[in-house]
Amino acid sequence: MPEGHTIHRIAKDHSPILVGQPVAVSSPQGRFDSDAALVDGSVLQRIEPIGKHLFYWWSNGLVGHVHLGLFGKFRVAKGPEVPDVVGQVRMRMSTDAGTIDLAGPTDCSIGTADDRDRIVARLGPDPLRRDANADVAIERMRKSKQTIGALLLDQKVLAGVGNVFRAEALFVNGIHPSRAGVDLSVEEARALWVTIVAMLKQGVKDNRIITIDRREFPVTRGRARRGDNTYVYHRDICLRCGTPVQIVELGGRACYYCPVCQPR
Ligand SMILES: [Zn+2]
Repeated sequence: MPEGHTIHRIAKDHSPILVGQPVAVSSPQGRFDSDAALVDGSVLQRIEPIGKHLFYWWSNGLVGHVHLGLFGKFRVAKGPEVPDVVGQVRMRMSTDAGTIDLAGPTDCSIGTADDRDRIVARLGPDPLRRDANADVAIERMRKSKQTIGALLLDQKVLAGVGNVFRAEALFVNGIHPSRAGVDLSVEEARALWVTIVAMLKQGVKDNRIITIDRREFPVTRGRARRGDNTYVYHRDICLRCGTPVQIVELGGRACYYCPVCQPR
């Protein structure tokens, strides 16, 4: 599943193609037909990323919602020429500047600003947003008896972190993923937040995930394999100390950690 940096990057990359002009909206596959008709030809005012969600603010007051989930994917074709439909395209958005196709999302729907607010109300602060309130996330971490590994994936605690940044942020701070949230000090929880903000921001910039310190370790450019640019995520041995990396299932996903660098 894409982590928050991908969602913010999508908003940034798609905005010049779609925002500020009338957009032809359709559903070549048909499943989004009636919703597409509600905004077809309207001007898109902005694309708002929050956590793993994208909101599309239309000039007629309606708000679109996209959640990519595990399988959702956008395809971008720049220029006025509208490309042939390839595969199952749920939503197609076209302007003179380009065409953006969306396939396989968990959700793609048109609603109201209230619908958008209801979704956002269920989310914790998004570390990539300037208005994010770190204290809310820190408090939610430290109030919970759940493991910090599970809490970081819980979008109600903070919105946007996925499996890679979870493992790497815990590693960088030397925190064992199975420690309970209530057992973290304020300083530890705040340090985790600060690390996550920095990692996600760097991810938006790089348009990929590189969590290792580039002054300390060589970064694999071009076609990196999973585990090339991380300390423990998807690695056999810890990049820093060479200890075999261990896996614990937390929050429904495998969490990688180094038992030496992250003692209990
Ligand atoms: Zn280690």
